[in-house]
Amino acid sequence: MGQQFDLLKARLNEISDVNHATAVLGWEQETYMPSGAAKSRSEQLGTLSKISHEMFVAQATLKLLKAAAAEQDTMKNAKKAAIVNIAQQDYDRAHKLPSEFVAEMARVNSQATHAWIDARRQSKFELFAPWLKKNFDLARRAADYFGYQDHIYDALLDQYEPGMKSAEVTNIFADLRDQTVPLVKAIVAHKDRVSDDCLHGQFDKQVQEDLAKKVATQLGYDFNRGRMDYTAHPFCTHFSIDDVRITTRTDETMFNTMFFSVMHEVGHALYEQGVSHDYERTPTGTGCSLGLHESQSRMWENLVCRSRESWVHFYPQLCEALPVFKQTPFDTFYKAINKVEPSLIRVEADEVTYNLHIMVRFEMEMAMLEGKLKIKDVPEAWNAKYQDYLGLTPENDAVGCLQDVHWSGGLIGYFPTYTLGNLISVQMFERIKKDIPDLTEQFKRGEFSQLLAWLRKHLHQHGRRYAPTDLIKRATGKALTAKPYIAYLKSKFGDIYGLGG
Ligand code: ZN
Repeated sequence: MGQQFDLLKARLNEISDVNHATAVLGWEQETYMPSGAAKSRSEQLGTLSKISHEMFVAQATLKLLKAAAAEQDTMKNAKKAAIVNIAQQDYDRAHKLPSEFVAEMARVNSQATHAWIDARRQSKFELFAPWLKKNFDLARRAADYFGYQDHIYDALLDQYEPGMKSAEVTNIFADLRDQTVPLVKAIVAHKDRVSDDCLHGQFDKQVQEDLAKKVATQLGYDFNRGRMDYTAHPFCTHFSIDDVRITTRTDETMFNTMFFSVMHEVGHALYEQGVSHDYERTPTGTGCSLGLHESQSRMWENLVCRSRESWVHFYPQLCEALPVFKQTPFDTFYKAINKVEPSLIRVEADEVTYNLHIMVRFEMEMAMLEGKLKIKDVPEAWNAKYQDYLGLTPENDAVGCLQDVHWSGGLIGYFPTYTLGNLISVQMFERIKKDIPDLTEQFKRGEFSQLLAWLRKHLHQHGRRYAPTDLIKRATGKALTAKPYIAYLKSKFGDIYGLGG
């Protein structure tokens, strides 16, 4: 019984082991590797990626997939069927791109990234422009290989948020933009009502780290199955369901840099630590989509850790760790960590303005793919949109259209998932509050286990078993809209900035 399934699973397990070993080397490259090892490490990573890819796309894998799918007792078992179906889905996708094309893409992306680093350092868009054109040409070709029905963007978005369509994103974003731009204007008109002076000072790195780890543990992050290290850019990675690691960065002069980046990555990590062991070492055993993943990081970072209720519990711990905060009234601190200020840099943006940064990128990607925006006109278009949405114009391209790594690495169609994550987080949270009416009261007592249990039950455990759009409906009760998010922003920031009504 299920013999073919067992053979398939054994093969998927081996491929997964190679992938996770690759991830260990990737993690180590960012954390502890001496810089002199860069070349040898990239060769090692290349070799392991090639081995894993060859094992996966081999005829032998297809044979095992077909044999397992033909087994009735396997396909009647929902979890086993999920393992077969997701592996088949990945196999089909992997076969849509010819291997020479994949190699060309890897080569061009890598050269483009080097050109981008140089262009950003010198703040000269023209050094990057030819590579940006190459990357968009490659993206167009990839979309043709993947195939699409309505819009070329759909084929690219589908890599990161399977099933989501650009027309749906356009609709959702239009709603969000119409409501966010006036809200930002109203906040800016009363910007003197919130100051974040109390977050600037001298905060010992070790003290910050100890506090962040203590809070992460209280949220439910299991350090016996994870750890935290330092990198230039924070991230979360996993080598199994029982080894999910996060990284952070420190700024001894600014309190919120480390604290909230840790809580963001903890949100990602809680998702991976919560996947069912039934999916361990298979392609089903990870988060469902980038948007759903981001919904978890944003939920813990913003809805939990930037809420008034959670700080009722955490503030005494903060004051004990960093006594300078004893001089800061609770309300001043709460407002400071929620300060809204239009800025040029996406990764530093607050909850209200963040999505406007994403819309700029999404609209420009659409226009470039449709041929309505020429590569040479990118800086001008970028600056015009920033003026339009955020009331700011970048003084140079380094803090303008050259700020993100995505376009240099060929990640076109990726940006919307950040905003989708924000929207999903609130829509899901509203649903959870219906199921657990005293949820935020629990936060005041430092109780987060019911929230985590809900997420484990409705989202985390399933891994990739359900399609993202189905899972959003299952977990939130309806299809995704911007409405809950807009209501949340108006209520929270209307209160903080005293906007009335
Ligand atoms: Zn994230």
